[in-house]
Amino acid sequence: MTSRHPYSQLLQPLDLGFTTLRNRVLMGSMHTGLEDRQKNFPRLAAYFAERARGEVGLMVTGGFAPNIEGWLFPFASKLTTHGEARAHRQITDAVHAEGGKIALQILHAGRYGYTPISVSASRAKSPITPFAPRELSSRGVERQIRAFARCAALAREAGYDGVEVMGSEGYFINQFLVEHVNKRTDAWGGSFEKRMRLPVEIVSRVREAVGPDFIIVYRLSILDLIPNGQTWDETVQLAIAIEKAGATIINSGIGWHEARIPTIATSVPRAAFAWVTHKLKDHVRVPVCTTNRINDPAVAEQILASGQADMVSMARPLLADADFVKKAREQRADEINTCIACNQACLDHTFKAKTASCLVNPRACHETELNYTPTAKAKRIAVVGAGPAGLAAATVLAERGHAVDLFDAAADIGGQFNMAKRIPGKEEFHETLRYFRRKLELTGVGLHLNTYVDATRLKAGDYDEVLLATGVIPRDPKIPGQNAQQKAGRVLSYIDVLLHKKPVGQRVAVIGAGGIGFDIAEYLVNEDHSPTLDLDAWNREWGVDDPQRSRGGLTRPEIAPPARKVTLLQRKAESLGKRLGKTTGWIHRAQLKMKQVEMIGGVNYESIDERGLFVTFGEKREKPTLIEADTIVLCTGQEPLRELQGPLEAAGVKVHLIGGADVAAELDAKRAINQASRLAATL
Ligand code: FAD
Ligand code: NAP
Ligand code: SF4
Repeated sequence: MTSRHPYSQLLQPLDLGFTTLRNRVLMGSMHTGLEDRQKNFPRLAAYFAERARGEVGLMVTGGFAPNIEGWLFPFASKLTTHGEARAHRQITDAVHAEGGKIALQILHAGRYGYTPISVSASRAKSPITPFAPRELSSRGVERQIRAFARCAALAREAGYDGVEVMGSEGYFINQFLVEHVNKRTDAWGGSFEKRMRLPVEIVSRVREAVGPDFIIVYRLSILDLIPNGQTWDETVQLAIAIEKAGATIINSGIGWHEARIPTIATSVPRAAFAWVTHKLKDHVRVPVCTTNRINDPAVAEQILASGQADMVSMARPLLADADFVKKAREQRADEINTCIACNQACLDHTFKAKTASCLVNPRACHETELNYTPTAKAKRIAVVGAGPAGLAAATVLAERGHAVDLFDAAADIGGQFNMAKRIPGKEEFHETLRYFRRKLELTGVGLHLNTYVDATRLKAGDYDEVLLATGVIPRDPKIPGQNAQQKAGRVLSYIDVLLHKKPVGQRVAVIGAGGIGFDIAEYLVNEDHSPTLDLDAWNREWGVDDPQRSRGGLTRPEIAPPARKVTLLQRKAESLGKRLGKTTGWIHRAQLKMKQVEMIGGVNYESIDERGLFVTFGEKREKPTLIEADTIVLCTGQEPLRELQGPLEAAGVKVHLIGGADVAAELDAKRAINQASRLAATL
């Protein structure tokens, strides 16, 4: 590796003494859902093998419980028997055949277990699970330690190169470290020395069980982000003891799951917590790994080059692109399909007990069944609309060998993503457009921008197939008085605001509180400032502080005043934002609350005039209330745009509808890209 390589630090091998990692990239643990049933292990093997081929330095599996008391939920993944270890061989063999290395994560959920048999330091229920854990006896604690050691030995037997001991995110081990969960008075509770005995004992007994030449990564919570979290001195003391007990690498953990600070969502600034790893680095000699919202090789390189960490953990970015590291090494970083940190197809799926995948890469976790193989019969195919659906379809078709023409009426590719990318906190959406722009070039798609196509042109093109990816049109809520105020510029659509940048007044009523209503409100209260691009501002708004100053890294938030007074409305009599993403909806709600956005549900829209919006409540629709507003923004959902379908079919042209053109209700980019890619894989 020459020092002139742009990612020379990232690609630097890491010598661990008894083994060497080929670079500084650790693929962080992700529960994909494939871990829980052995019948899915062939899929898991293919998934990891693809990432080993993509040259990841060290991969960590999703969590496996060391015993059933440590289960995340009933019958979740565990590694407790020789038989189970044998089944893992197919995974480790597949990874080793590709020259990769893989560690098994040992995850004991403690009181986060969604089971009535969960255990913890004390009988203190977590705020995010319905079951109060059983308090372990001293012998019970011993049993858990033995289970960790046995699980690690089984991992070695299964062919793994190491284990990661999960000591962060608020799971079992964390629960012993803090006084408000660990109220014990025996040898495992009381002073910090006693509270940290559990992890230290676990690591030393795991080391004893696996021998000296086996990787032990310890995931250490460096920032708890909960009230009564660890002090910085305690964190450092623990890290030193963990090193002494035999850990090979210390990985960073950020925030307990019950923390009310976002830690991985797209609105979190890139590499937002690398500075905390940096604080720890000089206290230990083993390599330290930093994590969270690192999705770009240049960011990773900068972290390593500035000495903030020895390794960089990326998890979701390797779902989005299995070849991330290889592309960086080959100086093809512009070809990386970047993780936009949306959580929509990964974490949100996990929380709904669905197999994880990726919004920008539907092949993730589906490597055995979704493949873009070369076509035996090249066709001429037209794709109309270069939004996410059209882009995915066109590039997959062209990659497979078809001759593809892609048309869009707009001056640029991207469709609605050109609005999404303007929302503060959604800057990552630019990356998807950058990726597709490059992919269109690489696959040789004929791109025709500023080209509104009609049925006549398509018929004249004599295509074998036509894909309509023409998207949607905004739904008109037809509120009395709306048209007159629309003409006067007081009623705008979200498109007017985001694309056409029409002027918006100081008092705004947003009609419709779906994803777009929330995004518009976010846009309007922040004006042109995005805390996502300003780490200090983001830390201030969420109350994140130096853990050396504030226990657990939490302080009082300092929130900049909103740029406007915004009222967000919906007809449904339920709390606003209830249907947003499982793992991100609470963040959107919290952000708007910070900016004093008033959220009103259960309304009837009665009329609009120059004073604002009149609404009533309930079935009787009595006594209209005026919501004073200078501007009213309509975010009332969408209808499919498929005006070309009828004339084309009438002329005998083979037409396929994808994305919003197919079904507009509950359309998101995940569905659009998945549907488009799957169709394009079969034509
Ligand atoms: P579109 O993106 O609507 O693209 C259709 C394209 O077809 C357009 O470019 C249009 O110009 C072109 N077209 C139409 N007719 C013709 C014609 N006759 N000739 C030529 N071109 C034509 N989704 C998520 O999953 N996550 C999010 O966080 C998210 N945030 C969003 C935020 C905002 C503000 C908005 C507006 C949308 C957001 N979405 C999000 C929704 C997501 O962008 C859409 O689901 C997705 O863009 C739909 O893709 P599509 O390809 O079906 O259609
Ligand atoms: P949406 O989620 O369907 O929301 C539409 C809103 O309009 C609802 O609040 C609905 O609430 C209201 N509405 C519907 N018909 C109406 C009518 N006739 N009159 C008045 N109000 C009406 O659609 P969207 O907000 O336009 O978003 C489009 C898609 O983009 C969504 O499916 C979403 O998944 C995706 N998106 C996702 C994100 C994300 O962060 N994941 C962000 C933005 C967009 P009531 O019926 O209760 O009034
Ligand atoms: Fe990243 Fe979204 Fe894909 Fe998850 S679904 S890996 S967050 S792009």
